Amino acid sequence: VDFGFKEVPWEEKVKHVKSVFDSVAEKYDLMNDVMSFGIHRLWKRFAIETAGVRPGMKVLDLAGGTGDLTRALARRVAPTGEVVLADINENMVNVGRRRLVDAGVAQWVDFTIANAEKLPFEDNAFDRVTIAFGLRNVTDKDAALAEMVRVLKPGGQALILEFSRVEQPLLAKAYDFYSFHILPRMGKTIANDEESYRYLAESIRKHPDQETLKAMMLDAGFDKAEYTNLSEGIVALHRGWKY
Ligand code: SAM
Repeated sequence: VDFGFKEVPWEEKVKHVKSVFDSVAEKYDLMNDVMSFGIHRLWKRFAIETAGVRPGMKVLDLAGGTGDLTRALARRVAPTGEVVLADINENMVNVGRRRLVDAGVAQWVDFTIANAEKLPFEDNAFDRVTIAFGLRNVTDKDAALAEMVRVLKPGGQALILEFSRVEQPLLAKAYDFYSFHILPRMGKTIANDEESYRYLAESIRKHPDQETLKAMMLDAGFDKAEYTNLSEGIVALHRGWKY
């Protein structure tokens, strides 16, 4: 199938990740709700509950963006713990900071501009690392996974929430149609930005499937890795342990 937008090499598009999120930052939260029919909230809640975060823990929310996970995590680490929201994009972090101040949780949050491929944190610093809908956008995923292992304390866990592979053939077809035809149109109507949402669909298709990501996690140094499919594999939650 030719979806008609292969003329720009993928590497070029990856370079534009920053500008993609620059251009969608303000409308980002609304679009998440519209595009997923609100279901992204349930996926995120499942990730948070699985993380088993307790008061006093130190948590890194990588690619934290506008802070959905950070907000829920901050409430769980309070009053003695801390969540670090790290993201490569300053605009997303600024929107996130505003939202978390409004939510009354900013005193438990540290905001950092950082690239997941090379984290500015010491070894063995965090009880949990979370990354929701972020790994897909990272160019060197192996480096990012290795960095997660490095900054986790022994006994710590990483939780990776990301779009994955739908197995059921009919659903996969419907989902493809939605992603490549309906979604960019919605992006155009709501955010006046068709290209960013084409990029989104393409990046989902290119992202490693469940088993591939699990193998990459083990290669990167996690001692154990598992995953759970959500919504028939539209999304998967991968969990990695550092012993
Ligand atoms: N985690 C948030 C959520 O679930 O709502 C935001 C997800 S948003 C789809 C992806 C985020 O990844 C963007 O904020 C983007 O700036 C960030 N990002 C992309 N590449 C990154 C990298 N190499 N290092 C850190 N953050 C990155």
